[in-house]
Amino acid sequence: MKDAVYLDKSKRKYKGNLHMHTTWSDGTQEAADAVSAFKAKGYDFISITDHDIFARTAAYDTETFIVLPGMERGGLNLVPDEDPGYHFGVLDDPTIEPMQERFHHLQSFEVPIPWEGQQSPQKLIDDMRAHGNLVVFNHPEWHLTRFEDMVQYDGFFAIEIYNHATEWTASSSYGAAYWDHALQNGKRVFGIAADDSHDHDPSCEIPEYGGGWVSVEAEELSQAGIIAALKKGQFYSSSGPEITDFRVENGFVHVECSPCQYIMFKAFPLRGPFHVEREKGELMTSGSMVIQKGMSYIRVECVDEKGRVAWSNPIFVADLAEEEQQ
Ligand SMILES: [Zn+2]
Ligand SMILES: [Zn+2]
Repeated sequence: MKDAVYLDKSKRKYKGNLHMHTTWSDGTQEAADAVSAFKAKGYDFISITDHDIFARTAAYDTETFIVLPGMERGGLNLVPDEDPGYHFGVLDDPTIEPMQERFHHLQSFEVPIPWEGQQSPQKLIDDMRAHGNLVVFNHPEWHLTRFEDMVQYDGFFAIEIYNHATEWTASSSYGAAYWDHALQNGKRVFGIAADDSHDHDPSCEIPEYGGGWVSVEAEELSQAGIIAALKKGQFYSSSGPEITDFRVENGFVHVECSPCQYIMFKAFPLRGPFHVEREKGELMTSGSMVIQKGMSYIRVECVDEKGRVAWSNPIFVADLAEEEQQ
């Protein structure tokens, strides 16, 4: 089995929010104010993903902060304006040459999208990709998405596994079960935590800004740098803790994290170990597991004292196979 480094503690990570709204759709904050708030919170990048209106602007970019072009495309429901429905995160991918023209700043799109049967979500995903975008399957739990949708549709590079806004609006913010369903069925998709913020009231007990983010191990802070790293899964998602290092060495998976009360390895089809210092009640900053024959993927969740989670991306065990000797 080959060694592999997924997150390297010696490398710089960039913190970003990939899902948020402003006054360009139904948010209450102007884009400039939202940018200032995220800068003040120490973020390196955001994507302004308003509903059915594309944001592409370099107006807020500096040496230390960038705004990735993006949108949230929705309005596709079996019954108009009723759940279940589909919202897709759309992120411009500058590393490819698109078949069709890229979306321009404040280009708007019609909603609702007429439901034309089960192929409708796939048609929408394909259309977003043809215009040079990455697609994220947004908030599946909140949207009452059916588990089989994770398998029957293709072309999304990630699933939103934590949506902070729905944590306190509908307590349905966790999409990790959908993620496992996709992974168990052989999909190679990553997990994304994001705010989906619409309002910003820092005095609120659970502020909408800064509740879910990605931490990306990119070569540089640029749109191409961040997108390339996202596509390779060189990031983790979090609602609190940090994952500083994640690697495979000599047939073992090792994770290092900020102090956590649990470290859970989620392996399939054999369960991975659950680490907890139950007797001493101490917090842990590392954990390991042996990779067993027959495992298809392994991911890890590190949970801090407040119950907040850091999610690694999956290790696909087939990628670790040694090439056959000629
Ligand atoms: Zn949405
Ligand atoms: Zn949203």
